[in-house]
Amino acid sequence: MPQIPPKKQMRKSKIEEICCRKYSQLLMALLLPVVIVGGYLCPRLGFIVVGLITLFMIIASKRGRFYCGWLCPMGAFHERFLSLVSRQKPILPLFKSTWFRWLLFIVMMSLMLTRLSLAWGDSKAIGNVFRMMWIISTGMAIGLGLYFKPRTWCTVCPMGSLQGVSSKNTYLLTVEEQCIQCKKCLRVCPISTYPGAYRQEKGAGQVPSIECLRCSNCIMNCPKKALHFADRHQVQEPVSP
Ligand code: SF4
Ligand code: SF4
Repeated sequence: MPQIPPKKQMRKSKIEEICCRKYSQLLMALLLPVVIVGGYLCPRLGFIVVGLITLFMIIASKRGRFYCGWLCPMGAFHERFLSLVSRQKPILPLFKSTWFRWLLFIVMMSLMLTRLSLAWGDSKAIGNVFRMMWIISTGMAIGLGLYFKPRTWCTVCPMGSLQGVSSKNTYLLTVEEQCIQCKKCLRVCPISTYPGAYRQEKGAGQVPSIECLRCSNCIMNCPKKALHFADRHQVQEPVSP
């Protein structure tokens, strides 16, 4: 029987995931054309973005980047549709570096605040600012996701970084001692986070909030059932690898 090359084997292997996450993402992805295309005719549709920012800030206080993993229209589009044509190359370490994330955050926020100050007093123009921010982000995200993993943008997304720092101690992905560092969690993670790297010799290790979308893919696929979510105070203080 012919041997399947490792790359093809990986693509063929089924990823277990929580099915309601898939449906919530498919539903939320519809908001992307509503805001970007519909906003051309009705710029006030850009205020949907303000509603989503409010929503994720509320969720982040209890569930970290849960919004990114389950509800973000852009993330959903990349994971469910862009993935069909992506070349799926590994995410560059640069995109995971702290300085790069926060540099992008400052650039994007400066751009948005400058445009908002110019549009102030005109609701149509303000709506259009939020729509334009989505167009810029989606454009960059598609560019990255076509070559690298489809959700590469999510490793540097300014809104994701904001949620990550707003939830440093809550609902963290926790790695128990029985982890055998098989790296299956790394292979199924949409943003190439490797939970096994946070395993501790004694007690539990925890993945930093900003590095995890709370999608549960790794939990569902871990052969040793070594992963779960827990608040910081519920486990021994982790030491970064
Ligand atoms: S899949 Fe489970 S056992 Fe394997 S490295 Fe990840 S946490 Fe450890
Ligand atoms: S570390 Fe696990 S829960 Fe977090 S984003 Fe990756 S696969 Fe999802």
